[in-house]
Amino acid sequence: MTAAFRPSGPPLPEGAVRQEDLRDLNLKVVFQRILEAGSPISRTELATATGLTRPTITRIAEELLAGRLITEKGVTHNGRAGRPRVGLTLSDRGPAGLGLDIRADGLAACVVDLTGTVRHLTFAPMPPTGRDAEAVLGSLIRMGCEAIEAVTVKELTVVTATLAVPGPVDGGVVRIAPALGWRDVDAGTFLADLGVPCVVDNEANLAAMGELYAGDDPLGSFLYVSGGLGIGAGIVLDGRLMRGARGWSGELGHVTVEPEGAACACGSRGCLETYASTGAILGALPGATNRTDAREGAVPHGVVPGEAGDIFERINPGSVITTRAEAADPAALAALDRAGSALGIALSGAVNVLDIDTVLLGGSFALLSSWLTDSVRAEIDRRVLTASWSPVTVRPTLLGPDAAVIGAALTSIDQIRRRPTTWLAHQS
Ligand SMILES: [Zn+2]
Repeated sequence: MTAAFRPSGPPLPEGAVRQEDLRDLNLKVVFQRILEAGSPISRTELATATGLTRPTITRIAEELLAGRLITEKGVTHNGRAGRPRVGLTLSDRGPAGLGLDIRADGLAACVVDLTGTVRHLTFAPMPPTGRDAEAVLGSLIRMGCEAIEAVTVKELTVVTATLAVPGPVDGGVVRIAPALGWRDVDAGTFLADLGVPCVVDNEANLAAMGELYAGDDPLGSFLYVSGGLGIGAGIVLDGRLMRGARGWSGELGHVTVEPEGAACACGSRGCLETYASTGAILGALPGATNRTDAREGAVPHGVVPGEAGDIFERINPGSVITTRAEAADPAALAALDRAGSALGIALSGAVNVLDIDTVLLGGSFALLSSWLTDSVRAEIDRRVLTASWSPVTVRPTLLGPDAAVIGAALTSIDQIRRRPTTWLAHQS
């Protein structure tokens, strides 16, 4: 029996390539070279690198300069003295990406320019009405509009916004976010008031993309695990985010650590979140307020349970857990050890299946990494089959707790980096 063979890529165009398609392709190739160069590159170097003629390079450079995608900067070639040659590099005045994030300690907004530099970063507490979807999204729209206005004076134009949420997303709809008490919240439609196209995505995925963009290895493989009110993971293999068949991969918080363990907000028992979420760690500290009970039970459509108004301030790992751990409080150290072991057990399963060699601790885990890393590493060394030949690296993230909002902003601008012609089409 012979299996049918089908080509895996899109169908090839019929007939000759259209002239304007060729022009767009050449423009993308030149822009990609400028982007990859990392420092100013001359027109002559671009012609050599791309194989295009000097007049073609000159025409494309003019188009990119007029569209504020690149700028001219003086460079000296090979370090030799003499008149500086003019190089081309990415512009820091032009298109920009907006990121928005709902996190354990409040709301965040960030704008990055085309070079990936953060140009605006603001934080705000949760609205007084707590995690109510309308109030939270309303606050984010205000923060987003202020950010868009603030960067306009820097000659930046926000083209897209991306919202990071702690749960699986379907289109613009947040299917479930137990940490917020949200179910089937159409955040994408709500955020249309921002006035720019808005994408909604899982915060762990966006944070993982932020780490990938910020790191030195564009083809890296790692598992980003985000701690907080919930626990999520972003899986990056060979530089690509693995979203899963329905885009819902990475729900590490609901991996079973103890089959007969405590009840979880998701309806199961013994999930990782019942040991290592911020609420679970706080719950093990005598005298610390633990409101994880507010998350249990049925969650009404788009509405949150009551008395959650100040939960984000009370469950601030920086102000409660770390303070006690720094004071060597035995209960805090024991809770963190237990959380680290549970995290290590859940991560071992993922590492055994995915062959990941690096685990990045993000969100509140980044702040708590000095107390978590040893127990996480001990479980991984014990449970990962290949650990004795190739140890798994466990370390805090580069971007720390801001990984998701920066990753969201970088994801927004990445569309222009990949498809500069879409921006240019709107400029003419
Ligand atoms: Zn669960």
